[in-house]
Amino acid sequence: MTRTVDVVVIGGGQAGLAAGYHLRRLGVDFVILDAQSAPGGAWQHTWDSLHLFSPAAFSSLPGSAMPVQIGETYPDAAHVVTYLSEYEHRYELPLMRPVSVHGVHRDGAFLRVESDAGVWRARVVISATGTWWRPFLPAVPGRSEFAGQQLHTVEYRSPAEFAGRRVEVVGGGNSGAQIAADLAYDTELTWVTRRPPRFLADDIDGRALFDAATARRKALESGSADTGGVASLGDIVAVPPVREARDAGLLKASPMFARLSSDGVEWADGTRAEADAVIWCTGFRPTLSHLAPLQLRGSRGHITTVGTRAADEPRLHLLGYGDWTGPASATLIGVGRPARDAAREIAGLLGPRS
Ligand code: FAD
Repeated sequence: MTRTVDVVVIGGGQAGLAAGYHLRRLGVDFVILDAQSAPGGAWQHTWDSLHLFSPAAFSSLPGSAMPVQIGETYPDAAHVVTYLSEYEHRYELPLMRPVSVHGVHRDGAFLRVESDAGVWRARVVISATGTWWRPFLPAVPGRSEFAGQQLHTVEYRSPAEFAGRRVEVVGGGNSGAQIAADLAYDTELTWVTRRPPRFLADDIDGRALFDAATARRKALESGSADTGGVASLGDIVAVPPVREARDAGLLKASPMFARLSSDGVEWADGTRAEADAVIWCTGFRPTLSHLAPLQLRGSRGHITTVGTRAADEPRLHLLGYGDWTGPASATLIGVGRPARDAAREIAGLLGPRS
């Protein structure tokens, strides 16, 4: 069956919902297709102890403030799932799930969206599929020889599984620091980072990160010098569990090892360490394979954009993912503005509503 609609939003995480909020306000006819069977996008799948790096008031989508979580300055992932679930009901967003889109094709005046629940013909597509679904693993020699357990951030749940074991946590970003802090008490932990970890000052959290991203956007818009944005502040937000483990002397980083062997890891100077598990906290890439039929180019696995619009396909917008689709657009508080701008541009393209 083929259905026709003005806009198909692919992905029903926070970015898709923010797009839906603004499309609805502008009276656009749209549907949101989401591969998950329940609301909450990637937040449903994070490790048990994950807390946001901003207070609730600084983690809100447009129109509806995230409620405070009683007893927590920084809400946990389950609280975010509840908030997103209530958000989509409150604004009666037209979500269909689980629906997985496998291809977007040009089809005359339309884009044809092919999914496991049928085909949609859309005048515009917003892709908001996030990054969680495409974990990145670096090419490290010997990775396939290692006989122990290897997992990525997306598969880690809690320290219980690793109690008493020798664990290498790889990665100097927020995921690496938080998972290392989680494991610091009950395992024989080695935390390895490519460069010495850069902790943000203890009084800096997601609020300051958002301010830095906003200052950068304003500077670039006004033609002033690039302020460096979030990256200029550091890599790791010292959320309370990270701070506690660091202050207890349990978060000392070692340099990155050069290779894996069958029973452990080995540094360039020949030093070796036996390991039972390696947890790769080495980031993500944008989930864009469904857009491959459009053959759009970009660098580093991205698609070149002007604002949120694909530079070479004006009927496609990209939302979330990273700063390349808007400053801080991969955060709860940051996605609202690019979602609004995308919705306005799309409404303009579609013309007056009847
Ligand atoms: P997602 O939440 O991944 O949602 C995308 C949706 O699209 C999913 O439901 C997915 O199933 C669906 N989808 C994917 N492909 C398809 C397809 N082909 N067809 C149909 N549906 C599809 N941000 C903050 O603001 N504060 C924080 O404290 C914070 N902490 C973070 C901690 C970690 C460990 C990570 C990884 C990220 C964190 N972020 C944080 C960043 C960001 O807010 C989250 O990554 C968020 O989940 C991004 O939302 P999204 O809607 O872009 O993507």
